[in-house]
Amino acid sequence: MNIKKNILDASQKELEQYCVGNGFKKYGAEQVMRWIYSGRIFDFSAMSDISKQLREKLDDDFYVVFPKIIDTKYENDDNGNSKKYLIKLEDGGIIESVLLTHKNRKTLCVSSQIGCRMGCVYCETSGMGFFRNLTSGEIISQLFTVENDTGERITNIVFMGMGEPLDNIDEVGKSLDIISNDKFIGIAPRKITISTCGLLNILGHFDINDYKYKLAISLNASDNKTRNMLMPVNKRFPIEKIIELINLKKPSLHNKITIEYVLIKGVNDAAEDAKRIINMFSPAKVKFNLIPLNKAENSIYLKRYEKSEDTAAYNFKLKLLKAGFTVTVRFSKAGSINGGCGQLKAQTINS
Ligand code: SAH
Repeated sequence: MNIKKNILDASQKELEQYCVGNGFKKYGAEQVMRWIYSGRIFDFSAMSDISKQLREKLDDDFYVVFPKIIDTKYENDDNGNSKKYLIKLEDGGIIESVLLTHKNRKTLCVSSQIGCRMGCVYCETSGMGFFRNLTSGEIISQLFTVENDTGERITNIVFMGMGEPLDNIDEVGKSLDIISNDKFIGIAPRKITISTCGLLNILGHFDINDYKYKLAISLNASDNKTRNMLMPVNKRFPIEKIIELINLKKPSLHNKITIEYVLIKGVNDAAEDAKRIINMFSPAKVKFNLIPLNKAENSIYLKRYEKSEDTAAYNFKLKLLKAGFTVTVRFSKAGSINGGCGQLKAQTINS
């Protein structure tokens, strides 16, 4: 029996092998992919420069499926607006994507897994456990689904939704090849950020000076004791290993690594913490993104934690600035719609 596959899950190489294996020219793969990813044309019969035989063969073997939007929530503030999408996948799994609009920049925060197995105690996605990895097609179709809803093209992508992208590196990598290829979706690598809790075994496969995407590392603590408590991954890859990795990086004005730091009252926001992280890194290599803890009503984990007081957050930021670092504070965009960081938990799944 011929089981059709979702063509959005196929890499260029896989489609080339398919074309050649079925007696067509290798180039057919790139043609089809240009129609889909650059043209946003999903009907094989409309791909006019492709031979009828190949179009028919594709139609026999592949289909295109889009996830369905089952809910949206919208928030407006001075910094722009955010729209959170609850999206249902083909198998019924539910994920969330958040569109952040600021002037002409339309950033999509995508999910890479349903749930997460990293167990960070401040993050609500961890609280739901791990269900499965997303396929590359499911990652890419978050973009199509949201573009379809708004009628506007996404300009930037951040892998900061549900899941740990480096824990699903094969599918995330496949999706990145298509998203960043200027023949296809064509979002430049410098407009794509991979945020990781610090899976250094995977990061170690890349040359940090050659890595073309923007990298963000969630640090969230200034000492191993606190980081062990907040992020179990620290027991495998402690802070000194992160420092070691960043030390390999050459100073760069335009491609600094972002150190993400969730500010949690009384846990990691003291003057001593700021002092320690200032001593860990060089302003020529990293910048900081401070994130006030988002609190979600339904998380068992978050009950124990509060976001830092405004003055503590301000003082923390000031210390980093005075030490010469670039610092951004991520105001709780979408916080009131439970679409802020770490709050992306699809409660309807399996409940
Ligand atoms: N797994 C990846 C990407 C998802 S989390 C990572 O850990 O980086 C994206 C960002 O949101 C991370 O910097 C994470 O520390 C932050 N985050 C998680 N839970 C949060 C919460 N409750 N409040 C604020 N930020 C949170």
